[in-house]
Amino acid sequence: MSIPFDPTEHSHRRRNPLTGDWVVVSPHRMKRPWQGQVEKAPPDTRPAYDPTCYLCPGNERAGGKQNPAYADVYVFENDFAALVNNGPSGDVGQGELFQATAEPGVCRVMCFSPRHDLTLPEMDPSAIRRVVDTWAQQVAELGARPDINYVQLFENKGAVMGCSNPHPHGQIWGTHTVPDEPAKEDARQRAYFESHGAPLLLDYLNAELERNERLVVESTHWVALVPFWAVWPFETLLLPRRHVTQLPDLSDAERADLAQILKRLTTRYDNLFETSFPYSMGWHGQSSDGADHPHWQLHAHFYPPLLRSATIKKFMVGFEMLGAPQRDLTAEQAAARLAALSEVHYKSVQ
Ligand code: ZN
Repeated sequence: MSIPFDPTEHSHRRRNPLTGDWVVVSPHRMKRPWQGQVEKAPPDTRPAYDPTCYLCPGNERAGGKQNPAYADVYVFENDFAALVNNGPSGDVGQGELFQATAEPGVCRVMCFSPRHDLTLPEMDPSAIRRVVDTWAQQVAELGARPDINYVQLFENKGAVMGCSNPHPHGQIWGTHTVPDEPAKEDARQRAYFESHGAPLLLDYLNAELERNERLVVESTHWVALVPFWAVWPFETLLLPRRHVTQLPDLSDAERADLAQILKRLTTRYDNLFETSFPYSMGWHGQSSDGADHPHWQLHAHFYPPLLRSATIKKFMVGFEMLGAPQRDLTAEQAAARLAALSEVHYKSVQ
């Protein structure tokens, strides 16, 4: 006689339909008592303006350029860009075993706010709205260039993620080639669309709304959830309810609502361990190659590394480095913890 499958008891693996990758889930390990929230991070005592910060308004950057006295969002070309247009194009490899192609591109830095001491959850929705509009504008502007086929927006937040400056900022990389992660998602979404006639992520979103097991925050136009296949402990996926393939196509109402849900989601993150929650987040939309991509659904990924407290993070080592990612906390348990949190920022109630 076979034992019925219990997702809270039996080790299993789950497949990410966007990439085809698998994650090993070990829920029985969560039966041991939760050992969280013992350590607190030191309080954040940053000033509103830091004369030594190269992102603050009016300050000089390495390389001698000076920031203007900007009042909301400020975008500039990265002084140490990872991608540049200074060489040959096309194939620069040496045969099958040494394949290489030139990768010209653009790297920009985007300050979310002139205030050195703020982060997205602490900003007003009206200020976050200007971040949203700038994201959309940058995708439209860079995506219109014939040499750029993908615009990757991301925010790397927190020293634990290797972020070198706490001033709230993100990055914009325009690349000639569609990078691997969105390329994998493109292939899977295309295959699903061809066989089902509907976008994969819209079918997925509707199935999640029906199941109501992994939802974290909902609004009129957006839903944030812990995906079924989440790898990072408190990973989330943020999706518009409407079929939208790229940020520039968002309506005025969807942009205003996005600013609100970004604040609500990141406030919950900060409240989880009462710390400025580190993560890498970024947007995935369709390629900017000028073609239509009806199989795409715009979305943002949040990949936070923290596991049990402000100081205990998950490491991707051992089996994860050599085999496949593994997690103990199930996606459902993570979603329940995030969904139970307040949307009033912990700093504003102290
Ligand atoms: Zn994605």
